Amino acid sequence: MLNGTHLVAGEWIGSDNSFSNEPVSGEADQFAVGTVELVNRAVEQAEAAFASYSSLARSERAKFLRAIGDEIDARGDAITQTGMKETGLPEARLIGERGRTVGQLKLFADHIEAGDYLDRRHDPALPDRAPLPRPDLRLMQRPVGPVAVFGASNFPLAFSTAGGDTAAALAAGCPVVVKGHSAHPGVSDLVAQAIDAARIACGLHPGVFSQIQGGNRAVGQALVQHPLIKAVGFTGSLGGGRALFDLCASRPEPIPFFGELGSVNPMFILDSALGGRGGDIAAGWAGSLTMGAGQFCTNPGIAVVKAGPEADAFIEAAAAALEKVDSQVMLTGGIASAYHSGRDRVAGSAGVRTVLTTICDLRNATPYLFATTGAQWLADEELGEEVFGPLGMVVVVESDDERMKVAQSLQGQLTATIHMDDADAPLARDLLPVLERKAGRLLVNGFPTGVEVCDSMVHGGPYPASTNFGATSVGTMSIRRFLRPVCYQNIPESILPDDLR
Ligand code: NAP
Repeated sequence: MLNGTHLVAGEWIGSDNSFSNEPVSGEADQFAVGTVELVNRAVEQAEAAFASYSSLARSERAKFLRAIGDEIDARGDAITQTGMKETGLPEARLIGERGRTVGQLKLFADHIEAGDYLDRRHDPALPDRAPLPRPDLRLMQRPVGPVAVFGASNFPLAFSTAGGDTAAALAAGCPVVVKGHSAHPGVSDLVAQAIDAARIACGLHPGVFSQIQGGNRAVGQALVQHPLIKAVGFTGSLGGGRALFDLCASRPEPIPFFGELGSVNPMFILDSALGGRGGDIAAGWAGSLTMGAGQFCTNPGIAVVKAGPEADAFIEAAAAALEKVDSQVMLTGGIASAYHSGRDRVAGSAGVRTVLTTICDLRNATPYLFATTGAQWLADEELGEEVFGPLGMVVVVESDDERMKVAQSLQGQLTATIHMDDADAPLARDLLPVLERKAGRLLVNGFPTGVEVCDSMVHGGPYPASTNFGATSVGTMSIRRFLRPVCYQNIPESILPDDLR
């Protein structure tokens, strides 16, 4: 059952004002609006929990993470039903996303038990070294302190209340305060109940986890500016991420803001691949572009091909495949209306040809396809901006040289893809080092939607894909965002942290 309130250090607390979710059908549910006073309480309690939680044995933290996963699964049906109602996402997708969310909690449990993430180093003392002796030096990664987490609208589970950021921060030993996303307050409420049940079962300090619901932008702003918050994990839009990043940087004590933002995820379809199997690639692209109504940060919005009959055939095949995709409901009315304005902006840009456009209802999306030349793309920076939804753009270049210029002109991306055959290897070899500087993940002959949660994953990239190109928000390496190295010099065994003895 929904509480409709905030979870502040083990207490479910309401507030004077309420906001409602946006159900696809049926009655809206009411939720308490967040306040700055509740943010302050939650963060102070997170700091109060830090000493005990950060020094808890790794096996105990792992137990907590696994218990959260079990408690989420125990509420699985309610979470799926509420998610379908307030996000419009289909049942199978929500069940799959729950599996991923629980899976990543358990992956982090295994990861911290293994202990490699501590990156322990030891330079033993050299008292007789000349001209100067060396002291005993040890290094280990330690948790940074209370962490603020902002979920994204498009992943109500995997990038939200108990999503990757929360799992990584709790695994690292950091208490978490979540700012609930206003697009899915019901799912956030149920997942917060699961976390609190796990916390009680594990006998942990209540300040280890709090969630303040949204409905008030001042909540997020106060959270990132609170002096006791030491890092922020954010997944969302470029505009929102940049505003909060700037607030973090302008604090008296600036803190790291790990924002995973938008991306157009370009695909370069090289000549031999285009000629030999352009139709298949176009059909695969249409599937990836329209999955989940295109509401994926890894949605491949741009396809770059070389001019000629093969490029024309590719555009036709993509349009034919996209035309068959039904209208899909979007996460919120606001996201759908931003999608429709994005389409109008692109359609109105000079030198852009509309290949496929259809009318759709207010909260729905149908795919749109546009085409432009390499020269026009290079002349108009706005064409490289993300339109969140199933909108594709084919960039038709005149030469290998122009293709390279398009690659060099790209902003930072989460992913970049090359479609190639053996005969394309010389071109691909030139392209790879350019794309390596642009994206966090490079793919060949695949589509970037579907992000594996594992040790080798990088979900990040140069700005604006993320605000911190040295980090990832998916996979075990994401724990590093909430750790900092501490050097212990000549510290006697009797007082060294257990993990360093
Ligand atoms: P969003 O509108 O930026 O919202 C994210 C969170 O930030 C929400 O809690 C929102 O509060 C808050 N927020 C936004 N602007 C704020 C401001 N100026 N001050 C204070 N708080 C603010 O993003 P979204 O609609 O959830 O997500 C869609 C975007 O996320 C797309 O662009 C997509 O590509 C991107 N995305 C990126 C990744 C990735 O890993 N890189 C993954 C998924 C999605 P409210 O609840 O009040 O709106």
